[in-house]
Amino acid sequence: MVKICLDAGHYADYNRSPAVPAYYESRMNWKLHLLLKAELEKYGISVVTTRADPETDLPLESRGKASEGCDLFLSLHSNAAGSGIYEDIDYVVAYVMLDGSTDELGKALSQTVAALMQTRQSPQVKTREGSRGEYYGVLRGAAAVGTPGIILEHSFHTQTRATKWLMEDANLQALAAAEAQVIATHFGLEAPQEAPPEAPAEKPLYRVQTGAFSSLENAQKQVTALQNAGFEAIIKVS
Ligand SMILES: [Zn+2]
Repeated sequence: MVKICLDAGHYADYNRSPAVPAYYESRMNWKLHLLLKAELEKYGISVVTTRADPETDLPLESRGKASEGCDLFLSLHSNAAGSGIYEDIDYVVAYVMLDGSTDELGKALSQTVAALMQTRQSPQVKTREGSRGEYYGVLRGAAAVGTPGIILEHSFHTQTRATKWLMEDANLQALAAAEAQVIATHFGLEAPQEAPPEAPAEKPLYRVQTGAFSSLENAQKQVTALQNAGFEAIIKVS
């Protein structure tokens, strides 16, 4: 069974959008990871999350390490181009592992998210190396327990368009379904089967044949006898 660890980036009310103040990155990440969990489970994927409570923080490396024994660690985010508003910066980034283990999936996910969000710039797949291996703590944690990891940045909350898009629950649901499909395909899992509609039960017919006659007259007599007994009876010629 494929097992995936989902991490909703940050906690509580964290990373407020300077462009749309009602938006907090942490809240979007939390909603999206629960929707994605449900979508992945439709494919028979086993999903664990890094925390049970949105108000609780967890150190970055611990988040990655929570993926021990999983086939994938995926940390969900929206990006910031700085502390101000940058309306022109609008693209998706997948940060993948230095060892190349998530290049392919990171590319597929970033392309799918960019297409859905209709970002202004093309999606990017990046790695970042630090003095202790993976630069990002969550990926360093995932690497420490041998899990291929990805940080997926759903464009930037430092601009209005993408931020407003991410505030729509229907859009998050669409993202979850699309991301789950990409992941399932990556692991060779079939699309979930819709339950077939119940076929109307056909009323069975019980046919009884009583015999064959070389004489039409005798056949006629048999029919009459049957009809007199309350049965329906017909003559068929063969
Ligand atoms: Zn973030």
